[in-house]
Amino acid sequence: MTTKHDVAIVGAGFAGMYLLHRLREAGFAAHVYEAADDVGGTWFWNRYPGARCDSESMQYSYSFSRELEQEWEWSERFATQPEILRYLSHVAERFDLRRDITFGATVASATSHAGGWTVELESGERVEAQHVVLATGCLSTSRTPDFPGLENFAGTVLHTGDWPHEPVDLAGRRIGVIGTGSSGVQAIPLLAAQAESLTVFQRTPNFTLPARNAPLDPVAVAEHKGRYPQLRDQQRRSATGTLRTVRPDSALDVDDDERASRYERGWRLGGNAIFESFDDLSVNAASNDTLAEFLRGKIREIVRDEQAVTALTAQDYPVGAKRICIGTDYYETYNRDNVALVDLRAEPIEAVTATGLRTSEGEYELDVLVLATGFDAMTGSILRIDVRGTDGRSLREDWSAGPHTYLGLAMHGYPNLFTVTGPGSPSVLGNVVVSIEQHVEWISEHLVHLRDHGLTRSEARLDDQERWVAQVNEVASQTLMTKAASWYMGANVPGKPQVFMPYAGGFAEYRRICDEETAAGYSGFRLS
Ligand code: NAP
Repeated sequence: MTTKHDVAIVGAGFAGMYLLHRLREAGFAAHVYEAADDVGGTWFWNRYPGARCDSESMQYSYSFSRELEQEWEWSERFATQPEILRYLSHVAERFDLRRDITFGATVASATSHAGGWTVELESGERVEAQHVVLATGCLSTSRTPDFPGLENFAGTVLHTGDWPHEPVDLAGRRIGVIGTGSSGVQAIPLLAAQAESLTVFQRTPNFTLPARNAPLDPVAVAEHKGRYPQLRDQQRRSATGTLRTVRPDSALDVDDDERASRYERGWRLGGNAIFESFDDLSVNAASNDTLAEFLRGKIREIVRDEQAVTALTAQDYPVGAKRICIGTDYYETYNRDNVALVDLRAEPIEAVTATGLRTSEGEYELDVLVLATGFDAMTGSILRIDVRGTDGRSLREDWSAGPHTYLGLAMHGYPNLFTVTGPGSPSVLGNVVVSIEQHVEWISEHLVHLRDHGLTRSEARLDDQERWVAQVNEVASQTLMTKAASWYMGANVPGKPQVFMPYAGGFAEYRRICDEETAAGYSGFRLS
């Protein structure tokens, strides 16, 4: 027997959960297919020590339910992974979501036909749906580089993006970590505290800002909750989906003392506050250089070992062109006696051996190898599914030179298929929950429009799609964001096309464009 839904949703993270709730409320028969055993998406898998969000909890949470946002109590400024997972589990309970979610269900393919879509699970089960929404996440396909000899390692290999659910005993072990992006930066101090020795293998130095995480003050929380409608609205009308207020001048327009004082303030406040200092840090290379120098100065102040300082300050790209890291005691950790930093630019990895990792300079003996090597970002989770559009066209082939979408929401040749925070949307460039809510609401409204007008098919127009792709590229080229080999560019996956994937024009502007599309009766879509 084939199961039939109005809408099949892939993924039960922040996006799929809200979409299910929203579509049910609108009267659709919607069902979610989720590979994991429970809700949570990226927060289900990323259980490494130190995993926490670097958007503030009072802002990184659903705004669609007044009751939910009032009753949930966040405990810290930046929530830990277990706390976010508890929150999502609470949301699933509260809105009775699990009854319409099939867990342990990995989607293998989705095939378009005249009546909608056939979705096939890895188990062989088939599902029919009029619409499919890929709520598969931007950072959910973890990536293990092809290190020669990895399979020969006699110790334990762990990936931050696929961390074991049972406790891992790391006490007294010799641990190696490859990777110093956000995941590595969060894990390294906690691993160092448990390990006999920790060796960090760094290829590209990052810029890390101190989180200044702390328990939330109940008085401030009550005050925030009292103003939630207004503050959520402010987030929605911002460029980054946050409450950040950026000073409206250039880093080059003020004298050295004023510039240093603003950066000091941001450094002291923690999180991303330093980006409030000036409004041209992401577009003006000379302004950005002043911030890069300030941050290098902080590294020199904190880290004692000269060789480590040299490796940690050798960034050759603008601040923010690779996603900024938010850490706690990250640079301080290099002052511990049991921690060593290996600069892979000076001594590249040759192979993983049975007993450790060999670089051009020799072997490092290890019991545990932690891969903090990131994700096949933005497109990985979509293209893991064999998506077939009209006339059997393949999304993998259509995107072989980079993703082409209309507004990061839909693709020409793939009618009735939608993506949440897909490539071509702002998604990862700000508070992703705000982006998710906007996409979910846009898609739901679109489906209601189709139903109310007796329409069964919606397909993005090719010319509008190509115009959008050009606009996404144009906006990115006006920023410094393209000036690093980042996962935004697909540069972390060998062979992946190098194009800047998210929309860098800001969330508020993007929302305006989407609203315009709706107001114009979806002129960028062929509806029938
Ligand atoms: P990432 O930023 O892609 O970092 C991967 C690290 O692994 C980089 O240092 C990279 O070096 C290194 N690496 C990859 N392949 C390598 C190889 N073959 N040899 C040596 N080193 C290699 O991944 P991530 O740290 O998992 O973070 C990804 C994104 O997830 C973040 O940018 C963020 O958006 C999100 N995230 C957020 C949080 C949070 O909210 N706090 C936490 C974790 C992750 P290169 O730079 O040289 O490529």
